[in-house]
Amino acid sequence: MSKKKDLLSSVKVIDTIYSIEYFKSLLEVDPDQKDRLLGYIDRKDCEIRLYEPKSKQGMLATFIHELIHGICDKAGLEELDEKENEIDSIAINMAAILKDNYDLFKYIIKEW
Ligand SMILES: [Zn+2]
Repeated sequence: MSKKKDLLSSVKVIDTIYSIEYFKSLLEVDPDQKDRLLGYIDRKDCEIRLYEPKSKQGMLATFIHELIHGICDKAGLEELDEKENEIDSIAINMAAILKDNYDLFKYIIKEW
């Protein structure tokens, strides 16, 4: 596990604050170290675990993927929660939208 000052350390999903932990090895992302994962959301310990690769865009899509699992949990969307491919598709596209719209968050915070 690595801690860097410039990495986001927590995120609030509805009423739960998740800490964000970054790992250099895919195996370490899995808390049981049995599977090679890009990301993992630990709902019990309120932790999002991310593989820290060289590509930050890939990490963003993984981060959003785990956030969607968190939303599914809060919103009672058990069926969507099981659909990894659909969640991946939403996450990859949402990551691209965020990257392509630099001013979006500033606008949302200020105007909406
Ligand atoms: Zn998933």
